Amino acid sequence: MSDFIPVYEPTLYGNELKYATDAIKSTWISSLGKYIALFESGFAQFIGCKTGVAVCNGTAALHVALRGLDIGKGDEVIVPDLTFVATANVVKYCNADPVFVDVVKDTWQIDPVAIEKAITKKTKAIIVVHLYGHPAEMDAIMDIAKKHNLKVIEDAAEAHGAEYHGQKVGSIGDVGCFSFYGNKMITTGEGGIIVCNDSKLAERMRFLKDHAMDHDKRYYHPEIGFNYRMTNVQAAIGLGQLEHIEDAIDHKRKIAKLYNSMLEGIKGITLPPEKDGMKNTYWMYSILVGKEFGMTRDELGKKLQEMEIGTRPFFIPMHLLPPYKDDGKKFPNSALLGEQGLNLPSSAELTEKEIRKVCETIRGLAQ
Ligand SMILES: *Cc1c(COP(=O)(O)O)cnc(C)c1O
Repeated sequence: MSDFIPVYEPTLYGNELKYATDAIKSTWISSLGKYIALFESGFAQFIGCKTGVAVCNGTAALHVALRGLDIGKGDEVIVPDLTFVATANVVKYCNADPVFVDVVKDTWQIDPVAIEKAITKKTKAIIVVHLYGHPAEMDAIMDIAKKHNLKVIEDAAEAHGAEYHGQKVGSIGDVGCFSFYGNKMITTGEGGIIVCNDSKLAERMRFLKDHAMDHDKRYYHPEIGFNYRMTNVQAAIGLGQLEHIEDAIDHKRKIAKLYNSMLEGIKGITLPPEKDGMKNTYWMYSILVGKEFGMTRDELGKKLQEMEIGTRPFFIPMHLLPPYKDDGKKFPNSALLGEQGLNLPSSAELTEKEIRKVCETIRGLAQ
């Protein structure tokens, strides 16, 4: 047995196996079957939305959401520079252009001031990302969207259950998109969902994810759709996970509290934000490794790996990736966070002893 502490491991609670077995025994193992509707309505209800449209992954959720909102050729979509690449790629999938903006240094989230500056005649939408589980500044963003008649897509792939002034993220914009990849707050193996309150839009997204086949005329496809369906077996796993989502969130918040108390006061280490009125779900417990720490983020990650502690660097900012290369001067905060950010082990099952080991190791390496 290795003592290695991985950066992430999914937690399975029990009913996943029971429901998946039931789905298999029923022979409804493809994309029809009772678990799809149960999971869709259960998750939508958890977020506080009327409808959920389950899809095969979080990227597909974003893609279908953009197409459902009629984002297409020549349109500009504002995207934070610091995010996972899928947020930007889906804009390209629609033949539209992502316009990157910087994030706020102390919350790590998309900067409303930068959004307003980036708006042009071509701007159609904003994709807000709630990075690492902390909500973005939704009031300011919704005000800007209203003023300029823009759609708001919440990429809440990392923020299941995070709250902005009592409201769950994903329920505030026009649509909320979630991922159920193996390392997300809850998982279906691979999977995603779009939640919204507009039943017409939900129907349109349902149509798009299923080859855009006409409701009344089989094999008549008035436009180009996708096969982005989730399977009944995935939804069965998802339902078992959903029954424990509050536990998962509670665990993450407890883990963050322990980390915060044990890492406090180490020179050069910045702890993750939680702004007043917001609930951070700490999907990945993350720190910044500043100059005063005495070694770089990458050096610290390497040392921890040698001591059997898994970590992950922050995402590389979009403006530094070959498909999106841009002048870095516009993104000083994103560049700094991309350089200094480190995700520490964040599994819901992490023990206090493991957290202590991580923190004492970091403290021991400090200058
Ligand atoms: C995980 C993630 C996605 C994509 O989800 P997949 O299910 O892996 O396709 C999109 N955006 C963000 C911010 C993510 O973290």
